[in-house]
Amino acid sequence: MSDHDFVSGGKPIGIDSGEGPFLYSTDGTEYIDAGASFACTPLGHSHPAVVDAVQEQVGELTFVDSSYPVQSREDAYAAFVASTPDGLEQAWFCNSGTEANEAALKFARSATGDSKIVAATRSFHGRTMGALAATWKDKYKEPYEPLAGDVEFVPYGDSEELAAAVDDETAAVILEPIQGEGGINVPPAGYLETARELTDSAGAALVFDEVQTGMGRTGSMWACQNAGVTPDVLTTAKGLGNGLPVGAIAVRDWIADGAASHNATFSGGPVVSAAVHATISTLVEKEWPAHAAKMGDYLVSELDTALDDDVREIRGEGLLIGIELKRGANRVARDLAMNQQVLALPAGRTVLRLLPPLVIDEEEADQLVDALTEVVASES
Ligand SMILES: *Cc1c(COP(=O)(O)O)cnc(C)c1O
Repeated sequence: MSDHDFVSGGKPIGIDSGEGPFLYSTDGTEYIDAGASFACTPLGHSHPAVVDAVQEQVGELTFVDSSYPVQSREDAYAAFVASTPDGLEQAWFCNSGTEANEAALKFARSATGDSKIVAATRSFHGRTMGALAATWKDKYKEPYEPLAGDVEFVPYGDSEELAAAVDDETAAVILEPIQGEGGINVPPAGYLETARELTDSAGAALVFDEVQTGMGRTGSMWACQNAGVTPDVLTTAKGLGNGLPVGAIAVRDWIADGAASHNATFSGGPVVSAAVHATISTLVEKEWPAHAAKMGDYLVSELDTALDDDVREIRGEGLLIGIELKRGANRVARDLAMNQQVLALPAGRTVLRLLPPLVIDEEEADQLVDALTEVVASES
């Protein structure tokens, strides 16, 4: 955070380099980045494949707008579309998660001719006016109202309430396949299938926000693949460029065919495209999603044993893990950082979120478990 930044919260640790799952502070201390810097570095920090691709591209051609064919952009689109479930064959790159969701909601409206958006309690979809309107927390919304209207909220995970809300006027149902900011909430089995059936019969678009769940974190490239449900629009960002600012949406043909005018100046810039291509290629070739599934199982079982009665619940999928604590998560996160050199994220008041880079090994997972045991067990 800069002295002139009036928005971002400041932390008392100056970071000046990173490698793999580690960050190094200005005084040389090694921290394990158990939040992957907001899930933005699935391959770990400064991964050589991404660094090389970006360095080469920035020297060759830093920018030209997206109406000109450029190899790195072609490669990024091809890799991204190939990584998504069959049926999602068209895509568009933007700059962030909120912008991907903004586009999803706009395209759902133009393709259906309807306006109502159905979203879930405890959702997080971003901070621009439209995505914010579909976000649950009043604290984020109220000072900025009125937002884009016509959003109805239903309790996340409740199929009956969803069925009651989706009707002929519905343009889109937008859901995170597993909620991230809202507390790592895994829906009951069958919920996403029900959302698919309901939107199909109402002629509405099913939008899955995979900004946090995507890029291999849950054990598959996309969390919807674990549930076997393909949406009409899949949105992503965060880990897509392993730290470079880029978002994307992948859509079914009927959404693409119904899309009205939309674009962004920096869409699919050559440098972020090089990062996307290198990130997806590396994830796929090295089978990091399968590794994430294995390490997730390992971490959860070790945490279950170590923390036992000291926590209420440990839940998640792959390396998207939430620990429901018996006390405030902010304080635990602070103690982990200051006393154990572990950087973890809170998700809501009492949930601690672990989303380490997918490349962590057992030794690093053990290090996390030991640190958590120290902080959580010692204080409960
Ligand atoms: C972080 C996040 C967003 C917003 O992404 P930005 O890049 O910060 O705009 C949207 N949806 C989900 C699920 C997120 O986790």
